[in-house]
Amino acid sequence: MSKNASTNEISGESGPLTSAFEALQSSPEFRGPVEPLEDHEHAHANDHFALIYESQEEQFATAIPFLRQGLERNERCLYITYENSREEILEAMRDYGIDVDTALRSGQLSIHDEEETYLRNETFDADETVDFIDAAIEEATAEYEALRLTGEMSSVLQEDPEGTELVKCEAKANYLFDDADGIALCQYNRNRFPSDVIHDVISTHPLLIHDERVSYNVYYTPPGEFFGPEKTTREVDRQLGALRDQTDTKVRVQQRERFLRESHEITAEPELDFEEKLGKLLNLVRERLDLDAAGLTHLPSWNDKFLNEYTIRYGDESGEVWTDPGEGCYCREVIESDEPVGMADVRGTDWEDDEIYREHGLTCYLGTKVMNGATPYGTLWVGSTEPRDSEFTETERMFLKLIGQWVSYEVEREEREQSLKESNERLEQFAYAASHDLQEPLRMVSSYLQLIENRYGNAFDEDGEEFLAFAVDGADRMREMIDGLLAYSRIETQGEPFELVEFETVLDDVLDDLQLQIEETDAEITADELPRVKGDGNQLRQVLQNLLDNAITYSGSSSPRIHIDAKRREQEWVISVHDNGIGIESANQDRIFDIFDRLHTRDECDGAGIGLALCQRIIERHDGEMWVESEPDEGSTFSFTLPAM
Ligand code: ADP
Repeated sequence: MSKNASTNEISGESGPLTSAFEALQSSPEFRGPVEPLEDHEHAHANDHFALIYESQEEQFATAIPFLRQGLERNERCLYITYENSREEILEAMRDYGIDVDTALRSGQLSIHDEEETYLRNETFDADETVDFIDAAIEEATAEYEALRLTGEMSSVLQEDPEGTELVKCEAKANYLFDDADGIALCQYNRNRFPSDVIHDVISTHPLLIHDERVSYNVYYTPPGEFFGPEKTTREVDRQLGALRDQTDTKVRVQQRERFLRESHEITAEPELDFEEKLGKLLNLVRERLDLDAAGLTHLPSWNDKFLNEYTIRYGDESGEVWTDPGEGCYCREVIESDEPVGMADVRGTDWEDDEIYREHGLTCYLGTKVMNGATPYGTLWVGSTEPRDSEFTETERMFLKLIGQWVSYEVEREEREQSLKESNERLEQFAYAASHDLQEPLRMVSSYLQLIENRYGNAFDEDGEEFLAFAVDGADRMREMIDGLLAYSRIETQGEPFELVEFETVLDDVLDDLQLQIEETDAEITADELPRVKGDGNQLRQVLQNLLDNAITYSGSSSPRIHIDAKRREQEWVISVHDNGIGIESANQDRIFDIFDRLHTRDECDGAGIGLALCQRIIERHDGEMWVESEPDEGSTFSFTLPAM
């Protein structure tokens, strides 16, 4: 193990950890603040812990995992007993999954009593004990990564009932643990120690464990202060400081909660578009930070200047404004940094030379990077022409960073949607051009086939007539497919604007059109009450017509029994057409929505395999989804969703 005295760094097997404290925090048995208290003057910590407990269960719940972690990190582990017997401790270790026998045999673990350790000279002496620990660390580290020591401290009360020497020893030990490869957990039984000793224990340990929580000790007093004449004054300062810190922390938590709630309300507002949300979010940050101006800039890959895409109270706010921040200032610095960059007062720094300061007087600035996937997109910033008295706090930076992350997400989504739209448009254009251009030669084939039949039909023998019939049929099928493709490619481009559509009326119209088929097949079609929706009436009618047509066509040998219903599901309607027909194998249920894909030959059932592809495309245009649920011979249910009004 390499432990650096200045950084207190330990690299364990589980990856580099900055301290034993973090190692303990990373263990599931302990809870504690993940970060040291923000800006706290007592955030200093060495590897000297005190455990304050009231029951054996509580004691073992900390002491045993503490040792187990040491064994896992190849540290020499030492337990000094007094309250519990050696057997009790070993049994507890086994209960916590420690391979006790191997650890004892190898010498990595040993258990001692007070007479072999603190009280080996019969009296308890602070200096001697510190020397003893120092020597033990040295011996242990010849072979192991560190010495991990834990002791039941009540043994000391035999020789030092007032705890005076003990407290002296604990204060001194802090110097030792500051830079030695040792970690100690001093166990204090609250029921055995006088309260004033516990009070001093709290003062002399930088890290406390109580009720399974590991914490930086805000009441810790560095040894130099603990014994000085100013002890009481310092303690009062410390207590007042701790109270102040606690209140500040609470205020910060409340501020964060409020900010998160308010920003969530804005982003979740369905009526607002991106720019309106952005404006509201930036105003929220501006108000919280008490700043005038804000904006979003974009640095396109083809230009070395930033474009002010959105600004509040900065520049002339109208039209496109390009800006060229100098080297390493404002947005130029932000785009290079993963964390927000803040300047409470740019005066007297090289940012003063930048045109953003010279022309717009932006004296105080906080910016965060906006990404488009893995590519930097630009910056989101707030600022003011007035300097600020204080630097930006972590909380303030976090506010802007969170909004920046939301903008990044939106920018990426917008780009994805745009490129999908473009590729769809290109595909539609291609399908349209291809099908349109194919119509002409096909028309020629058909009319010449017609001509051949009219003029030379009588000259054909039986085979010749059959061949001709195949050719005519092929041309007919091709026309059907081309018409289908044309219709498919026009759904987006030739659709009508959305209006109010009564689904009941749509159904009546479709039933009129299918009248003949219904009578021929003796079909029975029933429906629940159907909703009113917003959409393209003609297209929705096409959807229902195709689905009912299929339900009749694929009914098998029994007469078609078809039912249509509509169910409300949160913000949408789910409309379903149930039939009692031949059903579809699950392996084919996705395929049937592909264009020209059919499960039947034309001899079995007529059709071009385009109906469901058209339906799905129309429903997608209405921001809905379409799917089928079916079992062979058990009938099918085709469902689609439409946004509710
Ligand atoms: P077409 O009906 O012209 O073949 P569709 O796209 O409407 O084209 O349907 C594709 C395939 O899905 C059909 O060929 C058929 O095999 C299957 N199918 C559609 N609707 C049903 C249904 N209600 N029951 C069983 N199979 C169906």
